[in-house]
Amino acid sequence: MQRSFLIKPILDEVYPVIDYGKGVYLVDLAGQKYLDAASGAVTANIGHGVSDIIEAMNEQAKKVSFVYRSQFTSEPAENLAKKIANLTPGDLNWSFFVNSGSEATETAMKIAIQYWQEKGIHTKVKVLSRWVSYHGITLGALSMSGHTGRRARFVPLLEDFPVINPPYCYRCPYQLEAPACQYACAHELEAAIRRIGADQIAAFIAEPVIGAAGGAISPPKDYLKVIQKICEDHDILFIADEVMTGFGRTGTMLACEHWEVIPDIVTLGKGMGAGYAPIAAAVASERVMEPILAGSKLVMSGHTLSANPQSCAIALAVLEYLEKYKIISQVEAKGDFLRQRLEKLQNQFSFIGDIRGKGLLLGIEFVVDRTSKTPFPRKAVVTQKLVDLAKEKGLIVYPAGSGIDGVNGDAIIIAPPLTITEKELDELVGLLHETFTAFQNALG
Ligand code: PLP
Repeated sequence: MQRSFLIKPILDEVYPVIDYGKGVYLVDLAGQKYLDAASGAVTANIGHGVSDIIEAMNEQAKKVSFVYRSQFTSEPAENLAKKIANLTPGDLNWSFFVNSGSEATETAMKIAIQYWQEKGIHTKVKVLSRWVSYHGITLGALSMSGHTGRRARFVPLLEDFPVINPPYCYRCPYQLEAPACQYACAHELEAAIRRIGADQIAAFIAEPVIGAAGGAISPPKDYLKVIQKICEDHDILFIADEVMTGFGRTGTMLACEHWEVIPDIVTLGKGMGAGYAPIAAAVASERVMEPILAGSKLVMSGHTLSANPQSCAIALAVLEYLEKYKIISQVEAKGDFLRQRLEKLQNQFSFIGDIRGKGLLLGIEFVVDRTSKTPFPRKAVVTQKLVDLAKEKGLIVYPAGSGIDGVNGDAIIIAPPLTITEKELDELVGLLHETFTAFQNALG
């Protein structure tokens, strides 16, 4: 039997073979239509089959598809770096292009370590992160990820990078509410730094809105500001992992902008190529690049296909498309509209515990009982059941939450292409209603 490696090799579970995609829809070879309410994996941010991108792809292919990054640069790579520098806050001016989000976070980690080394400090090599987080599947990125499920098989190979509690207000470990809590979970960072020693720590990494591990967990108002201040006070770089949240997903170019925080290094991916090309980036500020430029002048990372002209041309076309149709400025209103509809569903289905998120990155957490917030037993595999039921109805939603300490954690992410229309949002909610009705009936 010959099958794609990427398809689960379970004989009775054959994934549908997609024939084509158009806008928010995917259509398989059997003619079944799916509303892609997950943008795949929060990636197809401008929808499928966009002709502007296909044209840009063709134009670049006619010119040159590949130059090697240590020999040449290309117009698309230079223009993309300039555009990212212009569209991001502060002086995040230096883009290092890679091919996946994991490579981006791994590169950010290496840039942070190198930053201290170029300043003559060689002990600062640890990166602190949070429980309920996901920064990628390569070993460095996984070492920084607080995702139980994805770490489990490789724990002996992972670096011992300490983790602190996330701002998971729905299940606050202190049983407090923001701002009365005074951001106790953020202050865990300070305690960890004191315990480990700032001289051992290169950086702290966090997703502004927690994606796959938690299901669109958005932080309370001043959380990120507190985190940034602690990093500053202790001479630790702050890396914002915006692989999922960047490129407008939450209504601003970077999600950090909502909380007026400018990281030292930011990672981008997913929506950057919007599914049309594998491309991601670690973007460093002037402050971070200064000692590297004055020192070795070489960021010690890179891949054969880094800054691939074809991928860069596509990412540039995606950014131009977002600008041309003013897509990012519409995200907040679309997100509010969707959230209100989801809240109506919450009134109808008692197993919907929490609705959260930012812009068009929304999460729904499921519970046995809303008052006690009792989670479903792990063996009930509720997230997977809901994802499967939705797919049967022609709706794609993204499973999340298995990073939530292996006890709680049934959640899905709703993150349709940012280009989705109001009519399509209505259809999405209708299909979700059908899915939840089927789930309720199955619960009995
Ligand atoms: N960082 C975040 C926040 C992510 O959500 C992901 C993927 O889900 C990654 C990093 C890893 O990206 P990739 O799957 O492209 O390697």
